[in-house]
Amino acid sequence: MPVYFECQRCTACCRWPGQVCLDDGEIARMASFRQITEHDFIQRYTRLRQDRRGLALAEKANGECIFLEGNDCAVQPVKPQQCRDFPNRWNFPGFEQTCRALPRLVGEEEYQRLVAQATGRHGQSKGA
Ligand code: SF4
Ligand code: SF4
Repeated sequence: MPVYFECQRCTACCRWPGQVCLDDGEIARMASFRQITEHDFIQRYTRLRQDRRGLALAEKANGECIFLEGNDCAVQPVKPQQCRDFPNRWNFPGFEQTCRALPRLVGEEEYQRLVAQATGRHGQSKGA
């Protein structure tokens, strides 16, 4: 049976080092949500990825994501896919030591439903 990780909104994944990669659609959605132009969004909230082949969300001086406000995400309804996908669609060895998501053993159908709900992705099998 698959294990679904239920996010507890601890915000650790919004604070640890790394980069949230963005595509054009995500930039357009977040700019629209913030009611600013894409150009302004890029200027204010993004930086070059480490490999300089695209954009990532900017960080605050303390390393937190620029959109972390207290314990909330300021772009929650339109947050990037990378954020939605963690930890069920991608994670890394030992992530459970920091991420507080609760592992739940669920049936295949329930797993599909929960992952689709969390990630906004539909009709894809586990790990695809
Ligand atoms: S965009 Fe939101 S969910 Fe993603 S890292 Fe930033 S604060 Fe966290
Ligand atoms: S995915 Fe994990 S680290 Fe991120 S907010 Fe949820 S419980 Fe915390």
